[in-house]
Order: sequence, then C-alpha cells, then structure tokens
Amino acid sequence: MTTQQEPSFRESVDLMFNRAVGLMDLPPGLEQKIRVCNATYTVRFGVRLRGEIQTFTGYRSVHSEHMEPVKGGIRYAIGVNQDEVEALAALMTYKCALVETPFGGSKGGLCIDPRQYEEHELELITRRFAYELAKRDLIHPSQNVPAPDMGTGEREMAWIADQYARMNTTDINARACVTGKPPHAGGIAGRVEATGRGVQYALREFFRHPEDVAKAGLSGKLDGKRVIVQGLGNVGFHAAKFLTSEDGARVTGIIERDGALVDEAGLDVEAVHRWIAKHGGVTGYADAAHVDDGALVLENECDILIPAALEGVINLTNADRIKAPLIIEAANGPVTAGADDVLRDKGTVIIPDMYANAGGVTVSYFEWVKNLSHIRFGRMQRRQEESRHQLVVDELERLSDDMGKAWSLSPDFKNKYLRGADELELVRSGLDDTMRIAYQAMREVWHGRDDVTDLRMAAYIVAIDRVAASYRAKGL
Ligand code: GLU
Repeated sequence: MTTQQEPSFRESVDLMFNRAVGLMDLPPGLEQKIRVCNATYTVRFGVRLRGEIQTFTGYRSVHSEHMEPVKGGIRYAIGVNQDEVEALAALMTYKCALVETPFGGSKGGLCIDPRQYEEHELELITRRFAYELAKRDLIHPSQNVPAPDMGTGEREMAWIADQYARMNTTDINARACVTGKPPHAGGIAGRVEATGRGVQYALREFFRHPEDVAKAGLSGKLDGKRVIVQGLGNVGFHAAKFLTSEDGARVTGIIERDGALVDEAGLDVEAVHRWIAKHGGVTGYADAAHVDDGALVLENECDILIPAALEGVINLTNADRIKAPLIIEAANGPVTAGADDVLRDKGTVIIPDMYANAGGVTVSYFEWVKNLSHIRFGRMQRRQEESRHQLVVDELERLSDDMGKAWSLSPDFKNKYLRGADELELVRSGLDDTMRIAYQAMREVWHGRDDVTDLRMAAYIVAIDRVAASYRAKGL
C-alpha cells in the first residue's frame, strides 16, 4: 500500500491533472473549477440488525456537473472514505469525457465489509442507503445515476432501482435511475462483462498500432503474450478470460488477497475463478505454484500487467522493480502519481484507467438509453435486417443456378450473414467502436505533441479539453 511520502489517492489524481493542465492553455480559473469536487454528501444511517441498531457511513460525491446526470459506481468496502470517493468521482468525469458518454462524474461508497452480512441484511442496508441518496436526488434518472463498483453488482442495483421506484411511483423513467441492473430488472445484455471486455478491446486497439507496441518494447500481436492479473473479481476475471480464450494470451500469474498463483505455461482462468468462488481465495488450488506474498508477483517478468483490484498497489515501494513493459489499469488508480513518474522514466507504457476501464460506464450509457427509450436494442431492426440479407442470399443462389451452379455459398457464411444482430452483439459493437475511437483521440495527442510522452497525459488532455469546451459552451 501507499507509503508516508506518497500523496493520498485524490491528491494523486490532482497531481496528474495538474501535470496535464500545465501543458494546456485554459482560461484563468477554469482549471481550478474543473479540478475541484463540486460536493460530497456524507450520510450516517442506522439499520436494525441482529437485535441492535448498526450505524453505517456512506458517501456520494459529485465531481463535475458540466453534463447531467452525473454517473459513477457505488463501492462497498471497509476502507471507503471521502478522499477515495472524491478521487474516483474525478476519474469518472475524465473517463466519461474521454469515451464520450454524456455524463458528469460522481461516485459513491459505503463503509462495509459485505462478506460479513447475510443477503437479507445487505438488502436492508442497501435499500436504506438508496433511500437516503434518492431523497436528495443523489439517485435520479436525470440527476445522478449510480452503477456497480467494487463489492456491489447486479443484485444491489436491482434493490436500488426498486427502492427508487417505490419512492417515485409515477416516474415513467424510474428504471434509468441506476445501471448495472440484472436483465429482468431493466438491465442490458453484456453489462456484467463490459469492463473486462473493454480492457480486451483496449488491448486489441493498442496492438493494432505497431509503433505503439514498439514503444513498450514489444512486438507482434496479443497472441502468446504473458499476462499477470491482480484481482480476479468481475473486471479481472472477464479481461483474463477473454484475452486467453479469444486472443491467445497466456495468464502466467493471478494475484489475489491470500496470495498468488503462477504458472509460466498459463493458468486455467475459469478453473481458478471457480476455485475462488468456492473457497474464497486461491489457497489450496493444486494446479499451480502458490506464492504467499502475492504482491511480489506484480514484480514478475511478463508482457502485460493488469492491476484489476485496488488503488495504489503500484507505488513508490515497488515501482522500480516492476518489470512489465506494458501496464493496463483495469482498476481505478492502481498506479500512484509517484510510481507513475518512476515508470515513465523507465519507459513503461501505461494504458491509463480512465480509458482502460471505461467499458463499464460505456455499457451503462447504453443501458440508460435503453431504459429511457423503453425498448431493447435491435427489437425493431433485427428481423428486417435478416430478411434483407435473405434477399441477397436468394439472389446469389438464383444467379448460381442460372450459371449451372457455378458457385455455392458456404453454410457457415450463410449462417453468419443471415443472422441479424441481437442486443449483446450490438452492445459489443458499440463498446468496441467507443474503445477504438477513444484510443485514437488519445493517440493523436500522444504522437502529435512533443511535450506529451505518455498515454495518461494524452488521456487527461483530451478529457479536460472536452470538459472545458462544455463549460465554455455554458458561458462559464
Ligand atoms: N464503477 C464503474 C467505473 O468505475 C462503472 C461506473 C458506471 O457504470 O457508471 O467506471
């Protein structure tokens, strides 16, 4: 974890922001307006549990309202604090701007270890927290739209949506008050996998540019690359699963709370995931070597390091020993500002959090749009698309018959071509497009300016520029 001489998470985000605005030409005062967090609401509420009233502390921070609603997850973790939610809210502002989701930045958190509570207790706590936030419009389809984060998922989002609906019985858009809901409660296909999928699409896009790959001292494609993942939660698991099963990468290390597993030949990601779900950690998993001090594995040789757990895990105490030439920040803030300086000097390429993990909020955006339009994606077009494709296939087959069966279409081609896109395919396509376009925006700045030497600065510059433009358009 972070050491004494290191700034807090929020200060770390501010330091990176300051480095970026130092390279920009913003009107006086605007820089300060963008950097500061607009408001942070702290709530303490009691819930009667196990025969006593237990008091919980929660936060919802709104960083920037240049666009509304503001957006960002709700985290359940024992270490949640104001500094952390403010840092995360700021990152949401920049993330949304970078991937062009029309939201300001927000974040929430509840100080709780969810593993200590039964499901019905968590429901009571979540509903009460949601009530406290909703009555102040800190959950609202057009003001503030939460989503899952560490320690929360579809289940909590369904409770929040239902709580909001109970409090706003005539709001036809009530479902759009939160994203990351399960499919039967107004969710969207592909939201659970979205952040991990986004990490995969980000890496695919990076590897489409040989000059960028060369900057990391790597070559070739994702196929065969050795990957170390820290945290096999929702994001880390999906990223590791897709990279191994679809891109030919090899996961040589998985770091968890209770140690790490290593295997140069490649770990079976799904098997490890099943093991963790059953046993609560990696300890006892027989098909790989176990390292007790898991954090040491961050320092192992590999091609791509994916920190997908907590903030601040790569800091001044270990930055100089990190050997991975390419780091993709699936977590928010895994590299401190100090470590970022050390790694930049070493030539490590970092694909920054605000881009790398933006898949979650991107698909949240699709879900919100779906909720507001009250119709699933593809419902109107799918069969029409299929019948138009059928026309082409029929015509080609007729021509072939006329020419004495000169050719035939392969059954595989026909199957693929004839099938209209369902919601999941449309969501993946929209996410892929978003990740490619955002990368290209960062890349233009990274390659186009001599004073920008890393992707993080490029990402900040693109994002801040967009937030500034929107403030200017408002006359501020
Ligand atoms: N908690 C996720 C993040 O940090 C998702 C936020 C959202 O979907 O609004 O990006």
